Amino acid sequence: MNFYILTLFPEMVARGLNTSIIGRAAEAGFLRIETVNIRDYSTNKHQKVDDYPYGGGAGMLMQAQPVYDAWQSVVERIGKKPRCVYVTPQGKTFTQQDAKTFAKEEELILLCGHYEGIDERVLEEIVTDYMSIGDYVLTGGELPAMVMVDAISRMVPGVLGNEESGSSESFEGNLLEYPQYSRPEEWNGRKVPPILLSGHHKNIEQWRRQQAILLTKRRRPDLLEKAELTEEERKWLEETEQGEKQRR
Ligand code: SAH
Repeated sequence: MNFYILTLFPEMVARGLNTSIIGRAAEAGFLRIETVNIRDYSTNKHQKVDDYPYGGGAGMLMQAQPVYDAWQSVVERIGKKPRCVYVTPQGKTFTQQDAKTFAKEEELILLCGHYEGIDERVLEEIVTDYMSIGDYVLTGGELPAMVMVDAISRMVPGVLGNEESGSSESFEGNLLEYPQYSRPEEWNGRKVPPILLSGHHKNIEQWRRQQAILLTKRRRPDLLEKAELTEEERKWLEETEQGEKQRR
């Protein structure tokens, strides 16, 4: 999959994405992450890319022309118009499901704003998707773009060595992942749950599913409401919670 990131701070994005799993996947050819410096497309002799907003108000706005020309340079080079995501607090909140959907694209353009944002007219012209990484305001779109590239890349076949690890983790089936343990068997007086040492795969699977349900109930009850539980699991959850209440 090919990512094209339009930004005023290409080195920030490039450095953030060239390490660990994503960096290795890019080196192995599963991904290509290209940054495009919007400033290179400024026609202003001082390479200016921002100006005051019409109508007044705080801060500066990125101008339409350099953003458009940076986008067009990509489109002309690859000979098609891929989806173009503007990362913005005004977008739809990005979820694991969106990561999976975007991972099916061959090419994806991500547009990072800065200052107070970008002139609306160029957004209308080039943007296909408005995505937010959460209800807070950051100084720039670089971190959100990196967040999205990371989450999407994990869903591209081959990027996570083990195909399994992408399918049993948090948000699959609207559940959080079960708690996990590694060596030693006892640490700081705390033991690994004995069932995990039993070698009984079916029981381990059932225990993990129950733990996932319990954890989701405690930390993300909103998510659990969307999860599909069997009649048996609902009964088990109710009994477990009753039992806990009585013990308290
Ligand atoms: N004035 C704008 C915020 C500008 S923040 C407003 O009130 O909506 C500057 C840039 O940071 C934005 O153009 C956007 O690209 C990025 N950004 C800030 N917060 C973000 C978020 N939660 N998700 C995605 N992008 C964000």
